[in-house]
Amino acid sequence: MIRKKVLVTGGAGFLGSHLCERLLKEGNEVVCLDNYFTGQKQNVVHLLANPYFELIRHDVTMPFFIEVEEIYNLACPASPIHYQYNAIKTVKTSVMGAINMLGLAKRIRARILQASTSEVYGDPEIHPQPESYWGHVNPIGFRACYDEGKRAAETLFVNYHLQNKVRIKIIRIFNTYGPRMHPNDGRVVSNFIVQALKNEDITIYGDGKQTRSFQYVDDLIEGMLRMMASREEFTGPVNIGNPNEFTILELAEIVIRLTNSNSKIVRMPLPPDDPTQRQPNIDLAKKELDWYPKIQLEEGLKKTIDYFASII
Ligand code: NAD
Ligand code: UDP
Repeated sequence: MIRKKVLVTGGAGFLGSHLCERLLKEGNEVVCLDNYFTGQKQNVVHLLANPYFELIRHDVTMPFFIEVEEIYNLACPASPIHYQYNAIKTVKTSVMGAINMLGLAKRIRARILQASTSEVYGDPEIHPQPESYWGHVNPIGFRACYDEGKRAAETLFVNYHLQNKVRIKIIRIFNTYGPRMHPNDGRVVSNFIVQALKNEDITIYGDGKQTRSFQYVDDLIEGMLRMMASREEFTGPVNIGNPNEFTILELAEIVIRLTNSNSKIVRMPLPPDDPTQRQPNIDLAKKELDWYPKIQLEEGLKKTIDYFASII
């Protein structure tokens, strides 16, 4: 076994903590960077006893120097309420974070993977979304700090690759859920499960007919590792998501049923620019990475419900 030294930015967040765990399980040495804006030490506290795990408080908008072979760049708030809380900081995190990590990757000749997002497609007019679709994003809307920040980060990745031969990998992650989402994170799966478990009203924004395609975290982490290990010339972007599409109303009904909850559904205003539909085309991931999601919604929701039941 070859032990690699790997840097994970945003490693104390929901996805980052699962990634750190999996990388350690595979026998690697992991350095986890986080400023704890939306992540928490609690997510990785169980890894601290491992001598091959290191946790560092650092903000990716500032340069960082280290010797590693691989970098996974995940640092960025991902939930609309959190990325809109300080929109300028969100853009800085995406753009300056990308510049700092790409500069590091260039200097140390590391492979670097960017956690991009289905939000680069905005409110898509093509359905399902293939990687070739350029998207439909409002550049001055409430979501722009995140969407345009992530789009600019993709531009930086591609240009560091073309100009400086940096070894890049870009994945576009579609809505992912699972244990260690923050209970107050504000995203739909965590909101509905917490509300259902507490028998509180389930808050549907708008008419609930908007769709999302939900992926369980373990499937995503497998896709991330496969992308990092893929042939050098394959830089992406590649969609990593579960194509099974549900309306938000359907999701609410499934969560209520799986939790045996007495919660009632209530309607709240739809946030501006909320995408009406979202579903990944994963042909490229299947072809290049031999990857497809294995865990379907009810199975993943049950695991996530068990987690939230244990913490609230
Ligand atoms: P999260 O909020 O749980 O994790 C983000 C982590 O980044 C947190 O630990 C946070 O403290 C850290 N962070 C934020 N700003 C930072 C900064 N300036 N410096 C250092 N650390 C910083 O969210 P997540 O769901 O785990 O998302 C991780 C990544 O995956 C993000 O880049 C997100 O855009 C991307 N992504 C997630 C999803 C999803 O559905 N979960 C979908 C698409 C893309
Ligand atoms: N949503 C909802 N109730 C909630 C939280 C979210 O109806 O309590 C809706 C939201 O308007 C969106 C969908 O669920 O249409 C997914 O929202 P989330 O914030 O999880 O992710 P994103 O919009 O970034 O895909």
